[in-house]
Amino acid sequence: MEESELKSKLMVMSRILYKEGFLDSFGHISLRIPGKDYYYISRGGPSGKGDFDTGDLVCVDFNGNKLGGDGKPPMEAIIHTELHRTREDAMCVVHVHPYYSILMTVAGIKFVPLTIQAASFGREIPVYDPAELVITGEEGKSMAEKMGSSKALLMRGHGVVTLGASIEEAYYMTYYLEESARFLVDAHRLGNIIPMSDRDVQKRLDYLSSRDPKVSPYAKVWTYHEFKTRT
Ligand SMILES: [Zn+2]
Repeated sequence: MEESELKSKLMVMSRILYKEGFLDSFGHISLRIPGKDYYYISRGGPSGKGDFDTGDLVCVDFNGNKLGGDGKPPMEAIIHTELHRTREDAMCVVHVHPYYSILMTVAGIKFVPLTIQAASFGREIPVYDPAELVITGEEGKSMAEKMGSSKALLMRGHGVVTLGASIEEAYYMTYYLEESARFLVDAHRLGNIIPMSDRDVQKRLDYLSSRDPKVSPYAKVWTYHEFKTRT
């Protein structure tokens, strides 16, 4: 896919995340261009978010320097810089602040997979403990270290970071992290937790890695949600 097509697709993701309530006054998304040493990120500052187009993207290098675009990178752009720089599988990175994912971290609820979608994250999701914005290079490094090779990071009292090797995968991880958190919070309210077995979690991971990208759950979830934004 050409760079311009990828940027347009990222803006489709921006609209979906806005409609689904993930991107609000805060939050940002970014996309690394394959083979290049820079990435695009949705600009910071006040905005409606739902009307973003490719003109709202800022180009940033792996040292965090702005290379082009009209606006400024968001205050927490270091989250994206660090992950694009260090992780091959971080083509698309999302940082948002969804209610149930944050609630888990402040209610002392530890992630365990309860559903097959939740099993897509494996057995554990790391929690970044400092309840503060990630702004400096040191904070960015410490956040990326805590995230390790996980597709998702919970940030106590703050939000989440999710990523994928494609825009579709990053969207899937963002959507199902919040859904998994909602299941967990409600299961705790009901008072009975039945986590998935190690075998079932591994089956889910094997299934995801073996699917043709065109018919994978990532593609299905993307197509369904993209259609929803148009109807
Ligand atoms: Zn934040």
